[in-house]
Amino acid sequence: MVSTNDDIETLAKEIEQARTALPHIASLLDAFSPLMMGKSRWLMEVQEDTKKFPVDPIQYHDGKPLSEQGQLFSPEDPWQSAGLAVAQAITLGFPNTAQDMTLLASQITDGRLDCYSLINSSELQDEAQLAGRAAELAIEPEILLLFLRSLARFMLTKKSRDMAAELALLSWTKGYCPVCGSFPHLAILREQGQRWLQCGECSHEWKYSRLQCPYCEHEDPANTSYLFVDGNKEDTAFTCTQCQKYLVTSSRPAELHQTPADLIAITLAHLDIILQEKGFTPMAECEWNTLGSPQVCED
Ligand SMILES: [Zn+2]
Ligand SMILES: [Zn+2]
Repeated sequence: MVSTNDDIETLAKEIEQARTALPHIASLLDAFSPLMMGKSRWLMEVQEDTKKFPVDPIQYHDGKPLSEQGQLFSPEDPWQSAGLAVAQAITLGFPNTAQDMTLLASQITDGRLDCYSLINSSELQDEAQLAGRAAELAIEPEILLLFLRSLARFMLTKKSRDMAAELALLSWTKGYCPVCGSFPHLAILREQGQRWLQCGECSHEWKYSRLQCPYCEHEDPANTSYLFVDGNKEDTAFTCTQCQKYLVTSSRPAELHQTPADLIAITLAHLDIILQEKGFTPMAECEWNTLGSPQVCED
């Protein structure tokens, strides 16, 4: 996980390299790279929690993610700095939101808006209530949704970073994330063909059988579930005929520096289009793999 100034500089270079090599994803990079950079910078600035989440090893072993064992978020978390960092990144990625983000940022700064209570209010799951809250804040509902999803990702990534050393000692056999319970948005094949699933919400990664579907646990011993495109052996997609889900997959066996998973996932966006045209749906929906969204992308 990105954590130093050098890592952030490397990430900026990798984004530029991707922009040159893959001009078809330039608009996705324009939109989402400020969030990637902003998250990395914010994570570098915020302290690691000394008060860790109390993991119950038995529940964990039985497949209960931390998010179901207790409250991952607490009012003491650095919500104000997270909210401001997200607002700034969204402004850079989606220039048409600038006015709304400035408004939100000023309310966060002067304490009128508490990001913790905003993200904790369960009524925001409901579309009409989200619209109501957005109207109170005087911003567009889809922009509020993008803000909330990004804010949750920032904080979840901090939580998974803070818990990484402890979780490394425990075993996890499920296809969903042990921290936040989400399904993976990407898999990376590392040395000896080991498959590491990547969580798009909290950036946690965990090892998982290469032959089994992380979504429905169907196993294909013949290992015929990988779809290759244009003879490219590095970038593939795992597909499951049982649940009709797919998982974009990048083979990086000898990589010394680990490219952040968010960036790899965006560089595979062409696979998302091909797989969705074949009738498969992604295991985890992200803004860049749900076709026709987000509307905020359209200037
Ligand atoms: Zn997660
Ligand atoms: Zn499946």
